[in-house]
Amino acid sequence: MIAEKVLFLVLDGISDRPCEDLDGLTPLAAARTPVLDRIAAEGVCGIMDSVAPGIRPGSDTSHLALLGYPPQEFYTGRGPLEAEGTGIHMTAGMIGFRCNFATVDADGLVTDRRAGRISGTEPLAEAIRDGVDLSALGIEFRFEAGAGHRAALALVGEGLGDKVSSNDPKKEGARPLTIRPCTDDPADAETARACNEFIRQSGEILYGHPLNVRRMEEGLPPANLLLIRGAGKMGELPPFSERYGLSGSVISAATLISGIGKVVGLEHVPVPGTTGSVDSDLDAKVRTAIEELGRKDFVLMNIKGADEAGHDGKGIQKRDFIEVIDTALAPLLDLKETLIVVCADHSTPCSVKDHSADPVPVVIRGPGVRVDRTNRFDEVSCAEGGLHRIRGRDLMPITLDLINKSHKYGA
Ligand code: ZN
Ligand code: ZN
Repeated sequence: MIAEKVLFLVLDGISDRPCEDLDGLTPLAAARTPVLDRIAAEGVCGIMDSVAPGIRPGSDTSHLALLGYPPQEFYTGRGPLEAEGTGIHMTAGMIGFRCNFATVDADGLVTDRRAGRISGTEPLAEAIRDGVDLSALGIEFRFEAGAGHRAALALVGEGLGDKVSSNDPKKEGARPLTIRPCTDDPADAETARACNEFIRQSGEILYGHPLNVRRMEEGLPPANLLLIRGAGKMGELPPFSERYGLSGSVISAATLISGIGKVVGLEHVPVPGTTGSVDSDLDAKVRTAIEELGRKDFVLMNIKGADEAGHDGKGIQKRDFIEVIDTALAPLLDLKETLIVVCADHSTPCSVKDHSADPVPVVIRGPGVRVDRTNRFDEVSCAEGGLHRIRGRDLMPITLDLINKSHKYGA
């Protein structure tokens, strides 16, 4: 039998280094994970350098690599991917940015970079879309509110560059910076001018907006400034369906990951109750993935949470959340005719509190795989498996071969 469907399950930042508070085990090795262990026992295991050995991947560059779009060729910065994930359809040449709603005081100093972790900013976004006008600069813009204090901006116009700085002073009590071009290219100067004008006009609109007036009456920090950063120029990415002949969906609560899925042409399937954090409704997510496999050839599902615990340096919390993930994955064991690929996108060691270049465990389970002797899904056990050590960009070719969709190289 040959599998026709593929599930890519990316457990974000799940792999780690030995943790002191776990007797020298990694959280994944310390966790009780009967479901992942069974997938490992029934599959072929290995370890993987998402981008390349020694390279510390971001979640964005690693996911691009896993989908077979090596970031060295296809990465255009975080802004365009966040913008796409926030709901702006990015086309080639557009400049995308990530934004924060923030608070400035009467003296013009940033007092809260997240405006009191405001949420429900759609009315503010609407006022900005209606009120800001960059046509004098020959530029159009798109602006969308995201989750919490987040938002995204995209500029559309001829000859815009993406080498510009941010207005984020990165600390509270400081004045917002002026956005500057980072090169002598007039295209970058043009983008910087448009950004500063956008920030000025949007600030005026936000200042008097009824939602902010009400917040100030309630003693809450108003969202009266936009901090924008992560500029990147959207490139051309060959669509996933053309590249591989597979239809596909992406399931992720993180806008960055859903944005990556969308820019390569995967359909984003929202799941109510998922937060991208440790309180996410994982059962609903797994259910949705199984439903999607009924409609599509390929599903990418990202489960965050463990990455967050790694960034916080909390090994025990990470181990416990891995056990929660494992329980939620149980329904996947019944998918006998689907190729299931489980991996991390990068390691997020609690001792580093950030991503590291340590290779991640990977397992492929389904019809046709040469089952190896590994029966535990963790960093050390998987290193003894039959896949040995691969790169993220190898994963799609290996997958396509297993589902008989790869083409012969030579005669
Ligand atoms: Zn990640
Ligand atoms: Zn992370």
